[in-house]
Amino acid sequence: MNAQQPAQGILLTRDYGDAVQYAVVCDCGDSDHTHNVWVEAEDSTVSVIIYTTLKTKWWESSRWKHLWTLLTKGYVEYETSIIMSEQQTINYAETLKSAVESSKKFADIRKNNNIVNQS
Ligand SMILES: [Zn+2]
Repeated sequence: MNAQQPAQGILLTRDYGDAVQYAVVCDCGDSDHTHNVWVEAEDSTVSVIIYTTLKTKWWESSRWKHLWTLLTKGYVEYETSIIMSEQQTINYAETLKSAVESSKKFADIRKNNNIVNQS
């Protein structure tokens, strides 16, 4: 199986050249499961940040139970998972790989242009 272009389940949300952002959506359609992927190159070093935004699901159990847990433990635990098809998984891996390469290339070109402009 090969990665697709455009890729199923992977949405390009921002592209600044040296920094790109993707939304990797869950098969179930719940936006709480979305992986927000940020790939950024700076001085030939690439950082990849993956995060999800969770909301409390107060309606799923008693609010008092949540409050009691918060009072006694000092925190409330949340968990999220993403469900991906085989095709989406391959697309996700390929997207990370190509985003790392292209942002690094963009940052290198910009760095070289700055060196040329300064000399
Ligand atoms: Zn889901």
